[in-house]
Amino acid sequence: ASPETGTDLSEALRVLNTVFGYDSFRGDQQQIVEHVVGGGDALVLMPTGGGKSLCYQIPSLVRPGVGVVVSPLIALMQDQVDALTALGVRAGFLNSTQTIEQRNQVETAFVAGDLDLLYLAPERLSMESTARLFDRAEIALFAIDEAHCVSQWGHDFRPEYLALSTLHERWPDVPRIALTATATHATHEEIARRLDLGEARHFVASFDRPNIQYRIVPKNDPKRQLLDLLRTEHPGEAGIVYCLSKASVDKTAEFLVANGISALPYHAGLDKDTRATNQSRFLREDGLVVVATIAFGMGIDKPDVRFVAHLDLPKSVEGYYQETGRAGRDGQPSTAWMAYGLQDVAQQRRLIDMSEGDQAHRRRLSAHLDAMLALCETVECRRVQLLNYFGQQAQPCGNCDTCLSPPQTWDGTIPAQKVLSTVLRLDRERRQSFGAGHIIDILLGKQTPKISQHGHDSLSTFGIGEDLKDNEWRGVLRQLLAQGLLTVQGEYNTLALTEASAEVLGRQRQVMMRREPERAARPARSERK
Ligand code: ADP
Repeated sequence: ASPETGTDLSEALRVLNTVFGYDSFRGDQQQIVEHVVGGGDALVLMPTGGGKSLCYQIPSLVRPGVGVVVSPLIALMQDQVDALTALGVRAGFLNSTQTIEQRNQVETAFVAGDLDLLYLAPERLSMESTARLFDRAEIALFAIDEAHCVSQWGHDFRPEYLALSTLHERWPDVPRIALTATATHATHEEIARRLDLGEARHFVASFDRPNIQYRIVPKNDPKRQLLDLLRTEHPGEAGIVYCLSKASVDKTAEFLVANGISALPYHAGLDKDTRATNQSRFLREDGLVVVATIAFGMGIDKPDVRFVAHLDLPKSVEGYYQETGRAGRDGQPSTAWMAYGLQDVAQQRRLIDMSEGDQAHRRRLSAHLDAMLALCETVECRRVQLLNYFGQQAQPCGNCDTCLSPPQTWDGTIPAQKVLSTVLRLDRERRQSFGAGHIIDILLGKQTPKISQHGHDSLSTFGIGEDLKDNEWRGVLRQLLAQGLLTVQGEYNTLALTEASAEVLGRQRQVMMRREPERAARPARSERK
């Protein structure tokens, strides 16, 4: 940006047209740009794909000086700078992947005013050399991208982000714009407080993504369910499949490839070159499927991702929203599909138990998981539930799975009592605890080796659950876990009662459940494991 440029709207529009090649601003962009160009602070909450980048890029070009962008997306800085350079914008970055010579070059250009935008890794903020550098240059604004990383309540906390509070103390006259796609009330408040943005204007966009169809199905045979989805609804289309572990990423990618789908793995266990190649192939080629851990995706800007599939339960609604938000940035119909089952709940509860950090931290993680489970088990419109979570009102969308085929509810109090009293008896009478599979075997009255070994056929609840099928019991147990009426503990995910269980056993509490859809018929198509 040069000092002689005007600071009015027409200048911003001219940059939008001539530099970025767009006709008009979208949503709140114009107001945000005007506010920041005028020197105001802003906190921008806008969903993924909403167009946050222009909100700081254009003011950086219009205002005198260099726009400094703090971003945790180090792996993407080179791409971002290349893209801007291709548009004729003078951009550079400073992070740990550079040689000293490369850094010196960028710093010289920065001080000389030969840059419009400088991307900076957050860990550089706490370095005294960075402060000295800032003192020697004219700074147009500070943009704080992925601002939710400052929030401990959020799902992606970065300790280096706490140093961001010094920006305002040391350079009080430089406007700041903080941006995030995470918008729960708690995160919003924490960003404003930690970054001292109380005086800033807050711009909160709608989080509705009307072109995304949300679907959450019971997990039976996840890889086959996924293959079905890809073959029947998204043949030859680009998409992202999220798995929790590196091992399941590898296995799922191999399975898809063996079944004729062009799939690539992506996770932190792969070497840097493979990761970079797979990411850039996904961005540049048509119709590739990336199977990935959540390490993949922050800042991925590919407009025609037609589906995002989750084979494991995300840890929070924020995470789910961000991940699914990578679908359909071009506004075309897209699918957010997830398979979710009993093991997911047990596994996530277990991960929280084992997590480091204090009691308060574990309570936060638990609250995040509970909200995610409520979204999975809801009988209401998924979109309404999702937007309510972000504090926004909506009408039933008519497009998600629960709108299209409203799930029946049923009174599951008696089956719940059967499960809970089995767990209670094992604990009281035998001082034992077992996992879900064994509890179900007891209820179904199965004579397995483990049952005879422990003499569990003499329990009074043995065989009292023959009215439900195995997978129906799995649904009951999953919902009891989701509702906090049952919990898992120990190394082997054994089941235990909670304080709330007593109310059900004492008949003071009714347990409503979501009816499991019939298991989908197995397709005749050939497939390889
Ligand atoms: P976010 O950072 O909010 O996820 P981006 O800034 O990456 O979103 O923008 C998403 C996509 O929308 C990009 O491809 C961008 O070029 C495009 N875009 C943003 N603003 C506009 C606009 N006013 N007109 C047309 N396209 C836009």
